[in-house]
Amino acid sequence: MAVLHSSLSPYSLKKLILLPYPKPRKLHHFQAMSSSSRPEPAALVHKVPGLDPDEMDRVLNQTFQRYTTSSSIKRTGNGVAIVWFRNDLRVLDNEALYKAWLSSQQVLPVYCVDPRLFGSTYHFGFPKTGALRAQFLVESLDDLRKNLTKRGLNLLIQHGKPEEVLPSLAETYGAHTVYAQKETCSEELRVERLVSKGLRRVVLQSPVNNPKLQLIWGTTMYHIDDLPFDTSSLPDVYTQFRKSVEAKCTVRGCIRMPASLGPTPTIGDWGCVPSLDQFGLQHQNVSLGMKFVGGESAALGRLNEYFWKKDLLSIYKKTRNGMLGPDYSTKFSPWLASGSLSPRLIHEEVTRYEKERQANDSTYWVLFELIWRDYFRFLSVKYGNSLFHSGGPRKLEHRWSQEKTFESWRDGQTGYPLIDANMKELSITGFMSNRGRQIVCSFLVRDMGIDWRMGAEWFETCLLDYDPCSNYGNWTYGAGVGNDPREDRYFSIPKQAQNYDPEGEYVAYWLPQLKSLPKEKRHFPGMAYIKQVVPLKFGNAGKYQNHSKASTARGTNFGGRQTKGSRR
Ligand code: FAD
Repeated sequence: MAVLHSSLSPYSLKKLILLPYPKPRKLHHFQAMSSSSRPEPAALVHKVPGLDPDEMDRVLNQTFQRYTTSSSIKRTGNGVAIVWFRNDLRVLDNEALYKAWLSSQQVLPVYCVDPRLFGSTYHFGFPKTGALRAQFLVESLDDLRKNLTKRGLNLLIQHGKPEEVLPSLAETYGAHTVYAQKETCSEELRVERLVSKGLRRVVLQSPVNNPKLQLIWGTTMYHIDDLPFDTSSLPDVYTQFRKSVEAKCTVRGCIRMPASLGPTPTIGDWGCVPSLDQFGLQHQNVSLGMKFVGGESAALGRLNEYFWKKDLLSIYKKTRNGMLGPDYSTKFSPWLASGSLSPRLIHEEVTRYEKERQANDSTYWVLFELIWRDYFRFLSVKYGNSLFHSGGPRKLEHRWSQEKTFESWRDGQTGYPLIDANMKELSITGFMSNRGRQIVCSFLVRDMGIDWRMGAEWFETCLLDYDPCSNYGNWTYGAGVGNDPREDRYFSIPKQAQNYDPEGEYVAYWLPQLKSLPKEKRHFPGMAYIKQVVPLKFGNAGKYQNHSKASTARGTNFGGRQTKGSRR
């Protein structure tokens, strides 16, 4: 078996490791949620949110009304301002959109379908955007256009690089400013620099010489300007960061958007919402599990469903480590990553829920998790590109393997049902629970000894909620190369199975061949399942009992640490 090391160039790796993008195998059997919640065949796939179209409309209108200002704001600007939509595909609490409106007489909203988003991942040549996230993006754009239209605008969809499209539009429409949400990772920062450079070349008539790029911070719950420290001195321990921001900062209220944001410049052809074949991708039907609907309307629908309709917010802390079905956690992440949902709006809704219904550990815990998201975003500012390097922020030397056995992990063929079920869920739906992500990450890195960046890039391809900061941040933690040296964890599969899928329902759902086995055999089915690709680093199921006692005695964390105040 060829063992390849990172001294090889990405190009030679691509040639040596043939990693075709696998089509997920169609699973025909629907088997087992808990017997009490087993859906009818018609509900093979859970739409998220699960609201019907009338409910969705009602929720959208109500939420839009709640977060729209009733007072008339004086619009002070002149001329045309462009809003360049990036990962902020929403109308509500969108500061770039608001500032563009305030500073102009006409707003031109633009989305650039950047071909680089559909290229390959950096080292291992996987598709940079898989079909499911591309579909989610298409739905998000369609919805954004509808919601902008309701406010007197539209969305101009242009195929091309932002650094080419935006200067040309600025010139054509005489726009004085391009407003956009600030990003923090290298690929996005490069595009920002190129757009800025392109705009400097555009010469406009007075009063401004050339249009400017105005970047607005907008992705986190706490605003970067409100942090009690400079990002260069961001604490390396999450708890210190969290306690400090909770004590010293306030989450800003959502911007109340004006009811009308129009007019736009007159444009003959606003461009079509792209289809998957324009990205060179084929439509992938979600045949099992959850089908997430893209766009701000769906995001607000999910928030309403999780908080207000089903009251699940009040039990989140108890359920959040689940793996099966839509209701154990919020499922906000795909909309947060595309910016269809504002974290500040979630914060306001949690506060409202606490006033109108109840406040408890669970209502707080959603905010606690959102602070993790903030933290990874701010870490990307502090640590820059080291987040993507093999040695991570700690610059640790490690000779990772890049064996072909990676494919068995990627394809859900490792012989460990808990790993395989999670990897199948990822391929089929574009989602995996937080618990699942931690387990498959630990298995790849610690049991298989494979380069964590292969796993991170595969997640980059598949995840609907892919976000460079949260993805690479979590992977560096999982691989033990993150900024916090204490975050070095091994997740024992037998123990994780026992704690989080004791009846084997989750694995039987995704691997129907296990359904007929007795529940206690589903995680370690022996000959009834495929051969295990590697032994576990700390022993198999048989040895588990003894090992578990030994590891507890030594104070290690083989079950995946459950620290006080953290589920990580
Ligand atoms: P909930 O449990 O309902 O949490 C609410 C929100 O808090 C989430 O939507 C998310 O925005 C935030 N959050 C929760 N946990 C984390 C965390 N550990 N890190 C950052 N934010 C968190 N999350 C992404 O959004 N994008 C990624 O690319 C991503 N990659 C990951 C890779 C690995 C290896 C691991 C272990 C975790 C990764 N996560 C990522 C974090 C986490 O798994 C998901 O945010 C979470 O599972 C999404 O489900 P949810 O919205 O139901 O979360």
